[in-house]
Amino acid sequence: MKYPVLTIETRKIKHNARVISSMLKDMGIDLLGVSKAVLSHPAVVSALIQGGAYGIGDSRVQNLRELRKSGFSGRAVLLRSPGPSLCKEAVLWADASLNSNPRIVSLLGEAALAAGKIHEVVLMIELGDLREGVMVEDAVSVAREFVRTRGVRLIGIGANLACFGGVVPTREKMELLLEVADRIRKALGITLAVISGGNSANMRLMLDKDMPEGITELRIGEAVLLGRETVNRSPVPGCYLDAFTLKAEVIEILRKPTKPWGEISQDAFGEVPTFEDRGVRWRAILAAGRQDIDPTGLYPRSHGVRILGASSDHLVCDVEDYQGNITTGTIFEFDLNYSALLRAATSPHVEKVVS
Ligand SMILES: *Cc1c(COP(=O)(O)O)cnc(C)c1O
Repeated sequence: MKYPVLTIETRKIKHNARVISSMLKDMGIDLLGVSKAVLSHPAVVSALIQGGAYGIGDSRVQNLRELRKSGFSGRAVLLRSPGPSLCKEAVLWADASLNSNPRIVSLLGEAALAAGKIHEVVLMIELGDLREGVMVEDAVSVAREFVRTRGVRLIGIGANLACFGGVVPTREKMELLLEVADRIRKALGITLAVISGGNSANMRLMLDKDMPEGITELRIGEAVLLGRETVNRSPVPGCYLDAFTLKAEVIEILRKPTKPWGEISQDAFGEVPTFEDRGVRWRAILAAGRQDIDPTGLYPRSHGVRILGASSDHLVCDVEDYQGNITTGTIFEFDLNYSALLRAATSPHVEKVVS
């Protein structure tokens, strides 16, 4: 085996999806499994579907294309509006996409007609997080434009919170979304079957039993993959937190001072680091770096191992308090947060081992 390795335990992901999909089902909500953190790896996608997800969401057209080429024929939703350059591909690989822009929707419609399809669109509504979505007061008029566009079908509306502005999805925000849906239904005389309430941050509302009735879908990534809601990052009861493991290999183990010496300027990333002098201690260098992981999102599973930092390719750890032998080739295991997982899954230098 060549390291670093990202192990993916599909049994645990399937279990998490099952726990969350049944919790949602009790409220009449469908689980759209979001697999973008692992580039929609087919094994993860099939675990999500087996665990009860009714479809898959990813923000990259390329990931959906690769997923389709692996044989996936289930529902695929593009979570980020394609740019004009990707509209043709988007309609080939995605059944639906989240949109806020009439020009893009018109390009999607043209591409869909050319491909002999109808592309489904969900109109995103801005609820205060200030990422994607039209302002509430413009929702009816934009929805009207979407409805008039040939080649697309407006199937619903959606919102996304807690991503850019850190704005929490509350009951009030969800009620506003439902109210906007009603306004559109009345003004345009259409059904709007899908009310897509948000992402893993909405799991907080689910756990607090504070989700209003009428939301039909949640698009959930982190909570099914890593077992946490994302408002406080508390565990979702019954979910595994360790479906993913990063394993990296020791390439140097030496006793060294803890404080660098010489004239101090910037580190490899333009930051000026500060160090506490803790005397001479054992330190291990592991062959993994910022190209492969986010060192601030990596948590050692072994007691007595502490991450000091990382450059592009070197992960430096204090191992003074580790009880056990360390030699070159010793493997250490780590839990990952979303940021570290995203990077590990994306790095071509991290081997993915699926079980
Ligand atoms: C990434 C993404 C999600 C899933 O987010 P998680 O926090 O991983 O659940 C949902 N919706 C949109 C629009 C996204 O981009």
